[in-house]
Amino acid sequence: KRKYFMAGRINLIQRSKIRELFEKARKMENVISLGIGEPDFDTPEVIKDAAKRALDEGYTHYTPNAGIPEFREAIAEYYRDFYKVDVDPNSIIVTAGAYEATYLAFESLLEQGDDVIIPDPAFVCYVEDAKIAEAGILRIPLREENEFRIDPDELVEMVTKRTRMLVMNYPNNPTGATIDKRTAKAIADIAEDYNIYILSDEPYEHFLYEGAKHHPMIKYAPDNTILANSFSKTFAMTGWRLGFAIAPPQVIKDMIKLHAYIVGNVTSFIQIAGITALRDKRSWDALKVMRETYAERRKLVLKGLKAIPHIEAFRPKGAFYIWAKINPELDMSSEDFANWLLDNAGVVVIPGTAFGKQGEGWIRISYATKKEQLIEAMDRMEKALETL
Ligand code: PLP
Repeated sequence: KRKYFMAGRINLIQRSKIRELFEKARKMENVISLGIGEPDFDTPEVIKDAAKRALDEGYTHYTPNAGIPEFREAIAEYYRDFYKVDVDPNSIIVTAGAYEATYLAFESLLEQGDDVIIPDPAFVCYVEDAKIAEAGILRIPLREENEFRIDPDELVEMVTKRTRMLVMNYPNNPTGATIDKRTAKAIADIAEDYNIYILSDEPYEHFLYEGAKHHPMIKYAPDNTILANSFSKTFAMTGWRLGFAIAPPQVIKDMIKLHAYIVGNVTSFIQIAGITALRDKRSWDALKVMRETYAERRKLVLKGLKAIPHIEAFRPKGAFYIWAKINPELDMSSEDFANWLLDNAGVVVIPGTAFGKQGEGWIRISYATKKEQLIEAMDRMEKALETL
């Protein structure tokens, strides 16, 4: 009988620490989760109606491999209208969320002997994608004193002949940091000068506060950027798996080729609903309400955290996360601290180390949770932490 063994590549993939904590929390009662990176809103009615209508109109067939042409046009139109960036619809591929867009970029661009620079901390999938692509991984630290932006000088220092790609993600998960125009331009210049691709993962582009603006990297380095984006957060559509990538001509060609054999296309009627999401004013009105609700919660949590001992929040201007520092005098690791909070306050937060070594000493708090739950969680955390 043939024995099963795992391919070496797959063996390298790490189970997410986030999942471990969720599994522990699931076995407990009366737990409030501030761990979830998913909008708690329902998809706007107008988008759901468009999907139902598309089904009735016969959008039940195979779609072109790169996505339905009218949907790709609507995406290009959105970038033109919203950011004044010209995008050729042929440079767009429709993907199963930003996740697939990211995976395709790693697999199309990297091979053994190539290096990729990934921020630390960073969203969990980049490192695992790099391992699957068998690329070398360098982590560029994001520092509080730099508002968790990539430091262009530090980046130049890290670049070698092997460097093929840099990953960026603003507004940022887990820190909530945003990027400014000057830094975006400086990084774009480095990418052009050293012939490096930028994978810019931008699913939180619409969640900005205190007047912050988003700077899509295709605006500054159009020939070097692979932009990954998604409807998941923007229109609260995580389960629809609707996303896309925009990339330079040769790269998009390879991504489309690979896409045909790995995941398959996003369901046709969902792509048709995506056109409505982008073109109908009502979906943008719904986004405005969601953004305002997040803004209110953000204020509430930042204010609440001020009263809680042993945690100090970075004041983020984007996404729906708060990155908070644990009092070093407690001498607790991020993981111990998150476990302690779960055991003693019944609140789930994510240990910073889930996002990289630099996350040691930090936790991520998500406010994609109802206001009442947030208030209750703050209260519980305050009471529990006062005992330490
Ligand atoms: N990129 C970042 C930074 C994320 O935080 C997430 C989801 O949490 C994703 C990508 C995945 O999004 P999607 O649902 O579009 O695959």
